[in-house]
Amino acid sequence: MPAAISPERPKNGIVKFTNCRLVKGNDLMEEDLWFSSVSGKILQSQETFYDYQATPDEIVDLGGRIVSPGFIDVQINGAFGFDFSVVSEGISMYTKGLHEVNRGLIRTGVTSYLPTITSQRPEIYHMALPLLGPPGNKRNVEDGAESLGAHCEGPFISPTKNGIHTLEVLQHVKRGFTDFEDCYGAKNLQRSPNNARPNVRMVTAAPEIGNVLAAIPELVRRDILFSIGHTEATFEEASRAVDAGATMVTHLFNAMKPLHHRNPGVFGILGKTPRHKRPYFGVICDGFHLHPTTVKIAWNAHPEGLILVTDAMKYVGLPDGVYDWTNGERITKAGGLLTLEGSDRIAGSSVTLIECISNFLMWTGASIPEAIKAVTSTPAKLLGLVREKGSLRPGADADFVVIREVVDGDASTKLLVDEVWKFGVRAC
Ligand SMILES: [Zn+2]
Repeated sequence: MPAAISPERPKNGIVKFTNCRLVKGNDLMEEDLWFSSVSGKILQSQETFYDYQATPDEIVDLGGRIVSPGFIDVQINGAFGFDFSVVSEGISMYTKGLHEVNRGLIRTGVTSYLPTITSQRPEIYHMALPLLGPPGNKRNVEDGAESLGAHCEGPFISPTKNGIHTLEVLQHVKRGFTDFEDCYGAKNLQRSPNNARPNVRMVTAAPEIGNVLAAIPELVRRDILFSIGHTEATFEEASRAVDAGATMVTHLFNAMKPLHHRNPGVFGILGKTPRHKRPYFGVICDGFHLHPTTVKIAWNAHPEGLILVTDAMKYVGLPDGVYDWTNGERITKAGGLLTLEGSDRIAGSSVTLIECISNFLMWTGASIPEAIKAVTSTPAKLLGLVREKGSLRPGADADFVVIREVVDGDASTKLLVDEVWKFGVRAC
């Protein structure tokens, strides 16, 4: 008699991580994690098991490693040789380069991000921004990291705090919001039928320039975040920007007035009361932009606001050397340090977010979940995306980074990206 062939159970796409530590709030919890590779969402494990009698198709033993939500970088100018601000090679080359960056970025643990454009002429924004918006309902792991909308850093910034932004393209706001529409393109500041949000998600501008302040409420009404940066703003001017709706500070301490005991400048607004008036703030923990103690002070002042950003340039992942920069100047790359050729002026960074997390751990004494928060739940809160991103709660997108802890010779803990999952599917 032939052996009975049991009919194969239909696949349900459910995956279970086991033998792992989940980043949940300020804790590392030894729990399993259930998610669906079909819906791309995290599942309620008890409910899935008991109510639907479902068992996973795949059980992944992570050998005690850490599972973090996918990292979110809200300020990154490019990577792997591609610069979001350069469209000179045409739309098809730009689209190709963008695809390659997305596939490269995800390997660094960044599953979603705000592609950042430095100060440019209006025609550059008009070409690039329609390509940098959120992808809408497309949920394909092959596409790599996902844009959550563009970050326009400039051109409404202070000419005396321009950093490496080209002076000739900086603009003065004469009227208000319409200047932003003329510069970025009105369509890029509107919700499109496909995307729930506009192509531009964040604007960095100097609130003391012309009529910038008057434009903030309309930007915010359109779900576009206003970030204070590249600015000469006093404490009072920065406070007025917060009152008008600003919720972020771009690379705190860099390209702004330093803290003065009689005028604390932009840094002072981290001490505002009530606490919900305090903005979020980006810090670049690459070991060059800020002294470790400066980072620690900022974190102690307002821990729930601190967001680690790379501010990385296209040189991330390229060998050391001298490279042409978009404004005709040249940039020297020496390890993680980028400077304008022939000067000691810092020209962005070439660090990855996981390196920033390790530095932050070492400099502040934060716990691993506290450090991971600064690239997951905190940026998700800033972006109003707590249901979808930055957490391991049921219903959130199944974007994960599997992290390995390594203790260095100097007893400091380094974190390494081992695996990355996007929408419930392993990406690398
Ligand atoms: Zn900047």
